[in-house]
Amino acid sequence: MATDNPVVSQADAGAIWNRVLEYLRSCVSGEAFDTWLSPTKGRELKGDVIEVEVPTSFFVEWLSQRYAANIKTALAAVCARPLSVSFRPRGQDDIARLHEHRTRSPWKITDSPSYSARSAYRLKPNYTFANFVVGESSRLACAAARSVAERPGVAYNPLFIYGGPGLGKTHLLHAIGNHLLSERGDKAKILYVAAETLFLEFIQAIEKDTRLEFKNKYRCLGLLLLDDVHYLVGKERLQEEIFHIFNHLHNAGSQVVFTSDRPPKEIPTLEERLTSRLGSGLVVDIQPPDLETRIAILHHKAALEGLSLPPEVAHYVASRVKSNVRELEGCLVRISAMSSLAGEPVSLALAEKALKDLLPPEQTPSADAVITKTAEVFGVPAAAIRGPSRTKQLALARQAAMFALRHKLGLSLKEIGTMFGGRDHTTVMHALDKIQSLCTTDPTVASKIERIMSGITGA
Ligand code: ADP
Ligand code: MG
Repeated sequence: MATDNPVVSQADAGAIWNRVLEYLRSCVSGEAFDTWLSPTKGRELKGDVIEVEVPTSFFVEWLSQRYAANIKTALAAVCARPLSVSFRPRGQDDIARLHEHRTRSPWKITDSPSYSARSAYRLKPNYTFANFVVGESSRLACAAARSVAERPGVAYNPLFIYGGPGLGKTHLLHAIGNHLLSERGDKAKILYVAAETLFLEFIQAIEKDTRLEFKNKYRCLGLLLLDDVHYLVGKERLQEEIFHIFNHLHNAGSQVVFTSDRPPKEIPTLEERLTSRLGSGLVVDIQPPDLETRIAILHHKAALEGLSLPPEVAHYVASRVKSNVRELEGCLVRISAMSSLAGEPVSLALAEKALKDLLPPEQTPSADAVITKTAEVFGVPAAAIRGPSRTKQLALARQAAMFALRHKLGLSLKEIGTMFGGRDHTTVMHALDKIQSLCTTDPTVASKIERIMSGITGA
């Protein structure tokens, strides 16, 4: 392979990037590797540039800011010739598809076989694996879902996914269905159904005396995606019916995936034999995502909507909404609506205003806790931050503390000035502006601010 050969080589790009990843594995923490590096793929080699696919545009920003030096060293170590890297977000394809979907005329949509199959199967087109941001807390569930989507009826049958509300269980169910539909087309007999809908259908079947049709409809499936089975509590006849449907599908080698808000054994009054059927395959849980994953989810959703989301706004929202991705999305919708109504770009001030009544009151840490944390991150004595010294390092730490006090505690410029020996509000304003701009230009400062903001907790 010559340096000046522009021929696109996928195999080479993949192999080189895998070697780079192997090298990087020993340079960064396991968690950072799994979150930011492991989801990347070497796609193309164009001359001296290796094109690497990443899940979202936020990864481009993050990897370029945080890992550029490590990646450069790794490339130099594993390649015989100098190569540079260019990141390409996979999300771009999704955005293109989304726009295409939106601009298509309605009759074209109904003409499309995959669209009609999708609606017949009740699958939501945007709930795909590509749109699911994987974090530590959802890694196992997502891997199991992928494996079932790739080889249905083989490995984990049934697959049972449980977890709290708004953590992506329904999303993963649809992702399995969408994947199989794209692989096998209309031949795949897939059906997504929420237990509540199944119950209504069952009642109707009893009323209209069409139970045989009901049975047949479910027994002929290749993949049954049954959502929210905790809803079956107390519905004994339906449980009985599902037990038989499940046995039939299982014997026929068809795949069944269940979700619930708790594990099978903790669903009260669920008939013993159904409980043991539900738990007879693989049972996996989904836990709330960590801060980095919440930020990545926000950036991914914003990119899909074409919304420009500054990093400090993503951080602000993600550090306030911790246990429910649906609520994270709700915040983004509010911010986006307020931004277009006010005709203003998204900023921290706009986000704070938009989410004022939506967010739970934050447990307020003390000003002392903010200053102590800042001192610790900057490696200076806390007392010196409040003092008069103007050395460069102390001045920066002081400005960072002012920034944190403003954005974490919402203190006024005057209050902050008083806290630092009666400095006036313009000095404080200058400090806030400076840190804000350093956050976008200086990754070291950005990372320190992030550590301060996420490291301070309420009393
Ligand atoms: P659940 O079924 O667990 O209550 P959903 O699957 O309905 O939750 O998810 C709620 C919303 O959050 C959906 O819009 C989904 O797309 C989104 N969501 C949840 N987890 C993720 C994730 N890891 N990445 C991207 N979006 C997610
Ligand atoms: Mg759900």
